[in-house]
Amino acid sequence: MSAKSHNRVVIIGSGPAAHTAAIYLARAELKPVLYEGMLANGMAAGGQLTTTTDVENFPGFPTGIMGPELMDNMRKQSLHFGTEIVTETVAKLDLSSRPFKYWLEWAEDEPAKTADAIILATGASAKRLHLPGEETYWQSGISACAVCDGAVPIFRNKPLVVIGGGDSAAEEALYLTKYGSKVYVLVRKEKLRASTIMANRLLKHPKVEVLFHTEAVEAKGDKLLKSLTIKDTRDGKTRELEANGLFYAIGHEPATALVKTQLDVDEDGYVKTVPGTTETSVKGVFAAGDVQDKKYRQAITSAGSGCMAALECERLLAEEEEDGAPIMVEVKKESNGVAPEYKSNPLV
Ligand code: FAD
Ligand code: NAP
Repeated sequence: MSAKSHNRVVIIGSGPAAHTAAIYLARAELKPVLYEGMLANGMAAGGQLTTTTDVENFPGFPTGIMGPELMDNMRKQSLHFGTEIVTETVAKLDLSSRPFKYWLEWAEDEPAKTADAIILATGASAKRLHLPGEETYWQSGISACAVCDGAVPIFRNKPLVVIGGGDSAAEEALYLTKYGSKVYVLVRKEKLRASTIMANRLLKHPKVEVLFHTEAVEAKGDKLLKSLTIKDTRDGKTRELEANGLFYAIGHEPATALVKTQLDVDEDGYVKTVPGTTETSVKGVFAAGDVQDKKYRQAITSAGSGCMAALECERLLAEEEEDGAPIMVEVKKESNGVAPEYKSNPLV
């Protein structure tokens, strides 16, 4: 299905931020259109939680809920209140004037579609190390998603390695203990970054060995991954570690390819928002979820910022409607992270 050529609000993304924004905007009768993506940024519609199992820290589910089920529920709630969900990827955006223009993947030669306001909730995706051997063994022993790939036969009763020291690494390693004979966790520093509860579970698990001060240097094998060369970061000494599986859990990159030359972004590429708001450096564009949050990066904080984006968007559109909507104006990109002054619309 394809949305109308002009809409008041378009939401790009399909994680907790996008769906929370959609629920609020739909209930405010703004008829939001949500582009959920078609494997956008290499990720299924529904976002990062579709790659995990139990989500135990999203309120409202006393015994937890599976990630994909939670996202399916959010999608149903968005639809129920009147959001139009389009299973396509936004390929290009032009934020230089309002209404903003955008084009969908495979339709970039067609006339642009337009929106008075945009909520950017494109999230983030797993980083890779690009080790020697990584391309050869990618999906032949190397993966960035234990939950998706951990159960395949090549990993059964074999030594497995997770790289990273955060909550994802802890979660992935614990998950892999169901399948592997042993799970090594390579941590480049002297400590884990994971939350206390996850770190404790990891350190206590009899099948897990955490190797601190350790980095991977090369992936080796035949048709499948068989070992890793690892290095002690303190003295640079290397050794071989038998490993039939390697799982990256080294953090994420914000999905800002669409906007990074048009909106202010920080040194790591995250969209800058005016503190305490979801306003970006272009008036009428709001950013919510992991695309603008490198600190918390949780489903609930993403949902919270999706709510903020919807309320701020609703308020802006209402104010503009009262004033005589200034939607055909040039918008100026500013570099200080503060939304720019708005030129009054010469047409009204
Ligand atoms: P994301 O979930 O990142 O989704 C963004 C979506 O937008 C993606 O589906 C993507 O395909 C789509 N998209 C991107 N670009 C476009 C485009 N151009 N057009 C259309 N669509 C596009 N948090 C918790 O609170 N509890 C947990 O237990 C938990 N477990 C996790 C387990 C794992 C393995 C991972 C990776 C993360 C986990 N998190 C957890 C973190 C949580 O998943 C994220 O904080 C949250 O999903 C971020 O939501 P988001 O709305 O920013 O978008
Ligand atoms: P993260 O917290 O950013 O941790 C990334 C880890 O990878 C860090 O230990 C980091 O090491 C390491 N790392 C980064 N680059 C590396 C490299 N080049 N080589 C080796 N190691 C490298 O990322 P995350 O674990 O994916 O978590 C992201 C967010 O999602 C967090 O807010 C987390 O709480 C949340 N999350 C929550 C749950 C849960 O609550 N159950 C589960 C998963 C994720 P340094 O510490 O040395 O930088």
